[in-house]
Amino acid sequence: APLIAVCGRPNVGKSTLFNRLTGTRRSIVGDEPGITRDRIYGEIEWQSEYARIVDTGGVVPDDEALIPSEIYRQARVALDEADAIIMVVDGRTELAAPDLELARILLRSGKHIFLAVNKMDTVQITSDAENFRQLGFRDVFAISAEHNNGIGDLLDAVFETLPRPEVEAP
Ligand code: GDP
Repeated sequence: APLIAVCGRPNVGKSTLFNRLTGTRRSIVGDEPGITRDRIYGEIEWQSEYARIVDTGGVVPDDEALIPSEIYRQARVALDEADAIIMVVDGRTELAAPDLELARILLRSGKHIFLAVNKMDTVQITSDAENFRQLGFRDVFAISAEHNNGIGDLLDAVFETLPRPEVEAP
């Protein structure tokens, strides 16, 4: 099945979004003593189509000192493995250097990248999200992972770009 990656700096809501999308169908990779659990895979079903999804943030501790290398690690996982990438930012805070760096790396790859502006919990969400187009994304979605706003539109757009399973000729 095609793979969707979720990227973004700590605390933007990656794992909340991941849990919203997968429900309970997930597995932590490297979940053994001494192994960093640096990514989590799950499954997602949308309009009768299936994909796998990876939270590239895993359960790496939220340590500011780790951010630069963490951004590169996430980007590598996403660019190596994924068919589509959702970059998550926190719509309630100013963009920070790690956001800009991650956006730069992802956009340069030429893959399908979707920007999810998260924590847009109230109604005025769409116009605010437009500000984030400055990052260079064509596809910008205001969402609230916590309140389940905007998730359907995001998934419609992402699944639209995924490779379809081969259909056998009759
Ligand atoms: P991660 O580090 O990127 O995986 O972020 P988390 O999913 O752990 O979320 C970080 C914090 O943001 C948590 O306190 C979440 O409850 C909160 N959060 C996540 N999504 C939303 C949202 O849509 N709205 C609001 N208000 N808070 C959110």
